[in-house]
Amino acid sequence: MLKFPIYLDNHATTPMDPRVLDAMLPYFQDLFGNAASRNHSFGWAAEEAVEKARKQVAALIGATSKEIVFTSGATESNNLAIKGAFEMYAQKGNHIITAATEHKAVLDTCKRLEKHGARVTYLAVRPDGLIDLDLLRESITDKTILVSIMYGNNEIGTVQDIPEIGRICRERGVLLHTDATQAAGKIPVNVNSDNIDLLSLSGHKMYGPKGVGALYVRRKNPRVQLTAQIDGGGHERGMRSGTLNVPGIVGLGKAAELSAQLMPEESVKHAAMRDRLQSLLTAELDEVYINGTMERRLPHNLNISFAYVEGESLLMGINDIAVSSGSACTSATLEPSYVLKALGAGDDLAHSSIRFGIGRFTTEEEIDYTAAKVTDVVKKLRELSPLYEMVKEGIDLTKVEWSAH
Ligand SMILES: *Cc1c(COP(=O)(O)O)cnc(C)c1O
Repeated sequence: MLKFPIYLDNHATTPMDPRVLDAMLPYFQDLFGNAASRNHSFGWAAEEAVEKARKQVAALIGATSKEIVFTSGATESNNLAIKGAFEMYAQKGNHIITAATEHKAVLDTCKRLEKHGARVTYLAVRPDGLIDLDLLRESITDKTILVSIMYGNNEIGTVQDIPEIGRICRERGVLLHTDATQAAGKIPVNVNSDNIDLLSLSGHKMYGPKGVGALYVRRKNPRVQLTAQIDGGGHERGMRSGTLNVPGIVGLGKAAELSAQLMPEESVKHAAMRDRLQSLLTAELDEVYINGTMERRLPHNLNISFAYVEGESLLMGINDIAVSSGSACTSATLEPSYVLKALGAGDDLAHSSIRFGIGRFTTEEEIDYTAAKVTDVVKKLRELSPLYEMVKEGIDLTKVEWSAH
């Protein structure tokens, strides 16, 4: 039985797994202690819960628990990694390399640092969404201290070759930070085999609570140090002060454990649903374009442009399905997605794109309903599109001379 609205926006956030909620509940009331209280059992119980969660998060990414710093989410983790490294390694250099398709939490952090003396290279990406590794190699200079490249992209799902990027960074003695918010818990991520020095992740992107995340900070080969961005009681080994969000951290730990357990089965299931959605849509509709490579992609992501259809009109037509469009991402503005533009998509194709994000609770029935509904609405909108009609009549739109009025 279908229940509406259907949720296919799992890159924006995921619903909490009921098992995560169960794990958290005791820590709101009965076990309310401050994990930093050393003198009584209230504090000890909270500390024990936090240390268990630290192990669970570490296990998800092949780290040790001492390398995990709890934060308020991936935005804070990205800020701490990039600003913290920039300040700590100021003696060594001021150059940071990132990519044009990063999340705003990375891009805007880099922009901020440019006002404080950083030189930042924003690597262009190839039309398939991946960065050019030769371009990365050429961009590293003696002054480069940090490369920040995300693991899986939140709009187009493309998965960068992080192990190879890490190898390049290692060879040149440069730290690698990766925003793994979309990848952690969805595909195997291992800080050692992937040569990662700093890694950001977030609870609410993997069926955990909002407002809690973690930053992995490598402890050896090399030992990475960061300048704290929030000062106070010296929590989290001085890297992030503030009373720990014990229920949130317990939830993040449980979410990490569940994701690690379910990943083999879930990733296959989601990729099959994703491929089914794609083939149903492409069987019925022409002029649809997949954004980002299908070769290296998160299993739960599909991003498609439906040419000659306005993304906003399409969204309104399918208002019983929760998805995102390439023009609605930056909330209030109708700017087309900067990620799609970085792939070289024209404004019209960027505007006509839809991001489908499959999740733990998505059913096959929902996929079939979505495919049928999108197909129907796209066909109806195109019936109203003079451009689509012209194309069908064989007119080459690039050769048309439009009059100004
Ligand atoms: C959601 C997201 C973030 C921000 O995470 P919060 O925990 O909401 O701060 C950062 N990077 C990527 C890739 C994301 O998808």
